[in-house]
Amino acid sequence: MAKLHNMTDSICKVALDLPLYSLFDYLAPLDGQLLLPGTRVVVPFGRLKKVGVLIELVSASDFPMHKLKRVLEVLDQQPLLTKLDLQLLTWASHYYHYPLGSVIAVAFPALLRRDVKLNAKLPAQAVVYYSLTLAGKAISSEQLQRAPLQRELIQQCLHCKQSISTDELKRWHKHWRAPLTQLLNKGFIAEVTISSAQSLPMSVSKQAHLQCNAEQQEAITAVTEQIGTFNVFLLEGVTGSGKTEVYMQIIDAVLTRGLQVLVLVPEITLTPQLEARFRQRFSVEIVISHSKLTDKQRYHAWLKMQQGSCQFLLGTRSALFTPLTSPGIIIIDEEHDASFKQQDGFRFSARDVAVVRAKLLHIPILLGSATPSLESIHNVNLQRYQRLHLSRRAGHAIPPIFQVLDIRNKQLTEGLSEPLLAEMAQTLAKKQQVLVFLNRRGFAPTLICHGCGWVARCFACDANLVIHRHDGVLRCHHCAQESSLPTQCPACHVPGGLIPLGLGTERVEISLQALFPTKRVVRVDRDAIAKKGHLENVLEQINQGEVDIILGTQMLAKGHHFSNVTLVALLDVDSGLFSVDFHAEEKLAQLIVQVAGRAGREDKPGKVILQTRHPDHPLLMRLIQEGYPSFTASALAQRQLAQLPPFSFQALFRAQAEVNKLAKDFLTEVVNLAKDLTQQEVALLGPVAAPMIRRAGVYRYQLLVQSSSRQALQRMLTALVPKIEQLKLSKKVRWSLDVDPIDLY
Ligand code: ADP
Ligand code: ZN
Ligand code: ZN
Repeated sequence: MAKLHNMTDSICKVALDLPLYSLFDYLAPLDGQLLLPGTRVVVPFGRLKKVGVLIELVSASDFPMHKLKRVLEVLDQQPLLTKLDLQLLTWASHYYHYPLGSVIAVAFPALLRRDVKLNAKLPAQAVVYYSLTLAGKAISSEQLQRAPLQRELIQQCLHCKQSISTDELKRWHKHWRAPLTQLLNKGFIAEVTISSAQSLPMSVSKQAHLQCNAEQQEAITAVTEQIGTFNVFLLEGVTGSGKTEVYMQIIDAVLTRGLQVLVLVPEITLTPQLEARFRQRFSVEIVISHSKLTDKQRYHAWLKMQQGSCQFLLGTRSALFTPLTSPGIIIIDEEHDASFKQQDGFRFSARDVAVVRAKLLHIPILLGSATPSLESIHNVNLQRYQRLHLSRRAGHAIPPIFQVLDIRNKQLTEGLSEPLLAEMAQTLAKKQQVLVFLNRRGFAPTLICHGCGWVARCFACDANLVIHRHDGVLRCHHCAQESSLPTQCPACHVPGGLIPLGLGTERVEISLQALFPTKRVVRVDRDAIAKKGHLENVLEQINQGEVDIILGTQMLAKGHHFSNVTLVALLDVDSGLFSVDFHAEEKLAQLIVQVAGRAGREDKPGKVILQTRHPDHPLLMRLIQEGYPSFTASALAQRQLAQLPPFSFQALFRAQAEVNKLAKDFLTEVVNLAKDLTQQEVALLGPVAAPMIRRAGVYRYQLLVQSSSRQALQRMLTALVPKIEQLKLSKKVRWSLDVDPIDLY
C-alpha cells in the first residue's frame, strides 16, 4: 500500500542494481517530500551516487540510525512502478534468486536507470482520468468508515464506469482535491492519462476482419469472454491455421474496451511481417520495444505505456515488465521459443513470469504456438491452462506431405542426395520455390590435415574452428576467436593437405549454385543477414519471386510466409537426435514442424523431405507418421518415467574460473552446504564438468539440483544462496543459478 511519509516511517528501503541480495536503508530526505514506493531516488553509495528504487518505508532499521545516510534526491513526482509491478518484480527476484535491484534494472529502460528527471510532459491535449484500482474495486463497506468523502468518491467512480475526469470531479464536490489525494496515496485510485485523439476510440481497426472458421471463432469467443479475469489459454494451431487472425480479433476486442495489449514475440527483427500485419489492421498507435532499438526509442515506448497514452505494445522478452495503466491482455506468440528465456544475468522465463503477471493483474493471457512446449501441454493436461485448438490450415491450404529419405550408403553431392536433387529440379521446373534447411553456419565445421591429422582447434575452447571461406577466416562459434585461413598445414607443412570436413550453409550455397546455375539462390543466416542488414529485403525478394532456392538456418523457421515454396528439404536432422541434453528431442521436433510449416501455404500442396541416417528413430517416426501432438504425448510419457521436468523441477548452478580446480571446488562446497539443508526430496547431481569444459579460456562446471516438489526446491535454494555468498571461493569464480534451465550446457 502506498504510504505517506510521516515521522514513524522514515527509513527508506531502496533497491540498487548491485550483485547483493539485500535492500539498502536510507533516511528519508529532510524536506518532507511525499515518498511513495516505486519512485526513483538518488542515494549516496560509498563515494558514488546511485539511482535506486524506493521499495518501502519502514519505521526501524537493523543498522544504528546514526550510520544511515540520507536520500539525496527524489527523482519522480509519481511512482514509476505500481504496487503490482513491485509485487511482480519482487516475486521474480525470489523465484530466480536474483537481486531485486538488478531485476528492477531489467524492467526500466536504460535512460531511467540514470538520474535524469522524467520529462513527464503529457501528450498534447491529454485527458486525465482517475480510475479505481483493483484494490479500490475490492474495497469493503467497513473500510473508509471514518472518511465519508473518500467513500463517496469511490461510489462516484463506480457510477462513472470506474473512472472519473477532473471536470466530473469538480461537478461532484467543492472539496474534491483532498479525498482524491488520499485515495491516490492509498492506492485505491490511479491516475490514467489518455491522449484525446485516442480516448474512446470509435474503431480501433482500419481493415476488416477475415471471416473466421468455427475453430477460430471458438478460440476468439473463449478468450474475449474472459477479458477482466485471469485465465491462461494455450492456442495450439498448426502453421498457417490463422493464429495471427485470432490474435488480431481478440486484440480488437481488448482495444475497443479501452484496455492495453502486450504482445511478446521471440525476436521482432526476425519476424518483420507480424509487425506489418498488426500495423495494417489497427488504427491505434503501436509501440515497439526490443534490444536493437536506441535507448531513447525504448524509453518512449515504455513511457507511453506507463502513462497510458498508448494501448498497444509489441516487444520481446524484456518488454514484459513495462508498466501498464489499464492492462487488458498479454499474448505470447511462439511460446515454445527458447528466446523467451534469458540466458545470462537475470535468467527469467518471460513466458512463465508473464503468467504470474497476468494472475496479479487479473487479466487473460494467451500462449500461441504450432508446437507448444511440453511444459504448456502438461499444464493443459493438469487443467491449469485451457487449450484452444486450430486443427486445419485456414483458407484452402492443405498440410504438407512428409518423406523420410534414408541416406545411408547413398551418394551425396555436398550433402544433397540424388532423389532430393531430382525433386528439387522438378519443383524448380514448375517455377515454384525450394527451401533448404541446414542449421550450421559457415563453410564447414572442421578443417583437418589429410597428411598428419591436424585439426584446427580453438585455443580458448574445447571446440573446432569453423571455416568461413567467404571472410577467409577460421572462426570459433563459442568465443570471439578468429584467425586467417591457413593455406598449408601448420603442423606438417605438406602443401595441399588441408581439407574442409562437413557442411555449412556457405558450402551448400556454392554447390547449389553450381548444380542449378540458372537458378537464383539466397542464403539466410546470421552471417549473410548481418552483412546485408536487411532481412526485410531478402523476404521481399523471396515473396516477389526473385529467388528460386532459399537456403538457411533456423532463422527460416520463424513464422515467415513463403507462399510459393512447395518443397522443404532438411539436409541433416541427425545431429539433434543424440544429444546429452534431454531438451534436444523436443527442440528438434519443434524445429522440424516449424520449418515444414513454411511449405505450401496457399493453394499449392507442399512436400517436406528429411535426409537422415536414422530413418527408424522412434522420435522421427512418431512425429512424421502421427504428428506433433502424438510426439508430445510420448515425449511427456518418457519424461514422466525418467522423472524429468515438467514432472520434476530443476535448477542449475554454473561456475567458471580460469584455474581448472576452482570452479569444481566451489561447487563441491556448494554441495556440502546444500546437503545440510536438504531433505530427501531434493537431489544434488554433480558437480560435473560442463559438456564443453573449456570455453573462452575458462573452465566450466555445473551442479544440477532436482526435486519432485517445486516448494522443496525453492525452500532449499532460498536457504542456500545467502550461504553461498559467504563462501570465500564465491569471490574467485563466476557463478550463476539458473532456475528452470532449458539448456543444460
Ligand atoms: P498462423 O499465424 O497460424 O501461421 P496466419 O494467421 O498467418 O496463421 O494465417 C495464415 C494465412 O491464412 C494468412 O495468409 C491469413 O491471412 C489466412 N487466413 C487466416 N484466417 C483465415 C480465414 N478465416 N479465412 C481465410 N484466410 C485466413
Ligand atoms: Zn598436416
Ligand atoms: Zn573459442
